[in-house]
Amino acid sequence: MTNADTAPSPLRQRDPEAAAWLQREDKRQAVTLTLIASENHCSAAVREACASRITDKYAEGYPNRRYYGGCEVADGIEELARQRAMQLFTGAEDANVQPHSGTTANLAALVALAGPGGRIVGMALKAGGHLSHGHDKSHTGMLFDARQYGVDPSGRIDLDEVRRTVREHHPKVLIAGGSSYTRNIDYAAFAAIAHEASAFLMADIAHPAGLMAAGVVPSPVGIADVVTMTTHKTLRGPRGGMILARKDCAKLINSSVFPGAQGGPLVHQIAGKAVAFGEALRPEFRGYQQRVKDNAAHLAQCLIGHGLEIVTGGTDNHIVLVDLRATDVTGATVEERALAAGLSVNKNAVPGDQRPPMVTSGLRLGTAAVTTRGFGRDEIARIADVIAGLVRGNDPERFRPVVRELCEAFPLP
Ligand SMILES: *Cc1c(COP(=O)(O)O)cnc(C)c1O
Repeated sequence: MTNADTAPSPLRQRDPEAAAWLQREDKRQAVTLTLIASENHCSAAVREACASRITDKYAEGYPNRRYYGGCEVADGIEELARQRAMQLFTGAEDANVQPHSGTTANLAALVALAGPGGRIVGMALKAGGHLSHGHDKSHTGMLFDARQYGVDPSGRIDLDEVRRTVREHHPKVLIAGGSSYTRNIDYAAFAAIAHEASAFLMADIAHPAGLMAAGVVPSPVGIADVVTMTTHKTLRGPRGGMILARKDCAKLINSSVFPGAQGGPLVHQIAGKAVAFGEALRPEFRGYQQRVKDNAAHLAQCLIGHGLEIVTGGTDNHIVLVDLRATDVTGATVEERALAAGLSVNKNAVPGDQRPPMVTSGLRLGTAAVTTRGFGRDEIARIADVIAGLVRGNDPERFRPVVRELCEAFPLP
């Protein structure tokens, strides 16, 4: 233990119990390789901003139009985040940095564009979409008239099916994007399908936002009417959401976020977003995102080399979806074995999966977090060896030393 771990801090002094839990999380992350595709490690600068005193401040409203006094600093921070967001996503005409999460961003955007009870069309969760795209257990499935499209047997979006679904149901909003979709999306084709039916196109880039900001994956900004995202996945910021909107949709979106869906914004998180966007505007960020993408492609190739099947045969982004149906293990089994070895991964349905969601026949892997730690091709190959070994049924304990060695050689930021 270093001095920094034991030195008295206000938290350790006042609440050793809570402090011990948080210290345990530092330790857990340090000795675990995170391959959960939706997670990343943000910088110490982002964490410092999120821990700042502005967490105390109420700032209902928007910059220069607040319901509380004393918001000059909150205004400055929110404007900084907004301006950086629009610089980062070239072509964005307005940015709302207030959504507390990706789900809140989607809910607010869908109410704005479809209206209560309005019809929406999104990708089914089991095909790789997200709960907040109209799943029946999500409010988006309860408050809207939701219809869904899937993927073809190879795991790719079938634009003809999307077009048929839209022509048949005449939605107010068509949603493009998902949580375990590994291929580029033809946003121009989606826009044509939506606009032909006088529907809005909402692109949810929660996962690939960072890759898109860096220009290593094609972006829907400038094509979709509204773009929603999270800031904590590949974008590597603090936990939160953001919405980019075309100018003519901006007013609707903004009043749907506040006062529609939320009260006071989390200004400390917005400060973290501003810092993360500043980092993403630096030239190194592009190199990082290119490595994330190259590492995912390499991971897919290495796993194929071990005889495993990858949905769609590879990836265009940071996600690799392993299809375990040709093996004798389930997603849940491999997830559990991986955890025992020190890898955090998650089970995930594959297209056409017959197993229930708590079991599944797939494994979703992502390279954003390990690439932040500095992983390159060699380390990715070693991880692929471990995963293949776990699928084959080798004792997870056997892999602990390799994982531990990699964690020590590539520390957290
Ligand atoms: C992660 C994700 C979200 C939701 O983000 P939360 O911040 O967890 O609410 C929304 N849409 C997609 C496609 C996602 O992957």
